[in-house]
Amino acid sequence: MSKLALLGGKPVRTKIFPQSNTIGEEEKRAVMNVLDSGNLSQYVGSWNPDFFGGPMVRQFERDWAEAFGVKFCMAVNSNTSGLNACIGACDIGPGDEVIVSPYTMTAGAIAPLIYGAVPVFADIDEDTFCLDPESVSSKITPRTKAILVVHITGHPTDMDPIMELAREHGLKVIEDCAQSPMGTYNGKFVGTIGDVGIFSLNYHKHIHTGEGGMIVTNNPVIAEKVQLIRNHGEAVVEGKKTMDIWNTYGFNYRMTEMEAAVGTEQLKKLPHLLDERISRAEHLSEMLGKLPGIIPPVVKEGCRHVYYIQAFKFKKDIVGVSRNTFIDAMKAELPPMVLRESTPIIGCGFAPPLYLQPIYQQRLHKCSFNCPRYEGEVSYDRGICPVTERMFFDEVFTHEYMRPSFSWDDIKDVTDAYYKVYENVADLKEYEMQKSVPV
Ligand SMILES: *Cc1c(COP(=O)(O)O)cnc(C)c1O
Repeated sequence: MSKLALLGGKPVRTKIFPQSNTIGEEEKRAVMNVLDSGNLSQYVGSWNPDFFGGPMVRQFERDWAEAFGVKFCMAVNSNTSGLNACIGACDIGPGDEVIVSPYTMTAGAIAPLIYGAVPVFADIDEDTFCLDPESVSSKITPRTKAILVVHITGHPTDMDPIMELAREHGLKVIEDCAQSPMGTYNGKFVGTIGDVGIFSLNYHKHIHTGEGGMIVTNNPVIAEKVQLIRNHGEAVVEGKKTMDIWNTYGFNYRMTEMEAAVGTEQLKKLPHLLDERISRAEHLSEMLGKLPGIIPPVVKEGCRHVYYIQAFKFKKDIVGVSRNTFIDAMKAELPPMVLRESTPIIGCGFAPPLYLQPIYQQRLHKCSFNCPRYEGEVSYDRGICPVTERMFFDEVFTHEYMRPSFSWDDIKDVTDAYYKVYENVADLKEYEMQKSVPV
């Protein structure tokens, strides 16, 4: 049995993993055509046909709407701006509460704050890490306006009970699908189940345009509002004869023609890229699932998991060392990935529970928690979402070794590394004990 790299042994692999590059000749040609045309963005912020952007943006929106089977699709320049636009389009404002997940990327809870509303954190399900409908139900108050679900890691949220709660209480449901394009729940694409869905096209996502976002809805009122918020709505409502101008003050959330051209080509590749990802993830789940105490991702019945990241649970009582020590040992055995040298492709959990960030702890926002119109009392205390805290601090670890750029030989190195670390747990235990002894 060879010595662990963390303890001075030879790592399983030193050759850097290949870049996850989905950009090819098709995207290059599409961008060159845009550059040749000289029209890099056709948007104008006044009421005329160019208010809706140029030919590539509109083409990309049509293609995306068709692929996801929705009536309306609006391209924006990020998922973050998309979240903001959707909160605005759902008429959310000061005094309102939006139920959000604490176990996601930071933008998911900031969007309500932008409109002066209060994010209320519900806890997550311990198998899927998505919002737990029971916890959501317990957080509903007369001030709740919407539920912002996040299909985190690529696994769908349990949408039936969420939609049931929304119907019962008259709430909007906004779906953050940044990590779950073409994930499905009972045969439906996530993003098309609630009132509106948002997808990310940033560099790290399944497919990308550098930066970008796509919004889908079947609701014409939401679609129109998103278009107004995307492009200086206040300047347009008069010419457009918009009656309801609540929250239609606009931003510049416009996508350029070049990104749209890249996106059109990327979308064509998405189904194949998902298959490649899922087959790698399933293999890794099978191999690692053989190690007692390492629990591969659950895929709930009726769901398609698209693995933006692969999240495992780690039972330290069974393995014999803490998750953090185990992951430190894994990091020492394997190299990073090309163009991702500074961010390891394996890590502990996702992000810390969002309510622990200073903005919530110190309530550094004048018009939301502290708004005179806000009659509620929201808590951001440690302990409000015990499952999230247990997952983040003790149990979950994630990796991205299932990316389509990983060859089966690369993946063999990955499983070898896991097995090597696992077989040397006794050494790790000793290392952990020595580390904890004060000197
Ligand atoms: C990536 C991501 C975002 C942000 O997307 P951008 O396009 O970078 O703004 C939001 N939510 C989740 C869950 C994400 O993974």
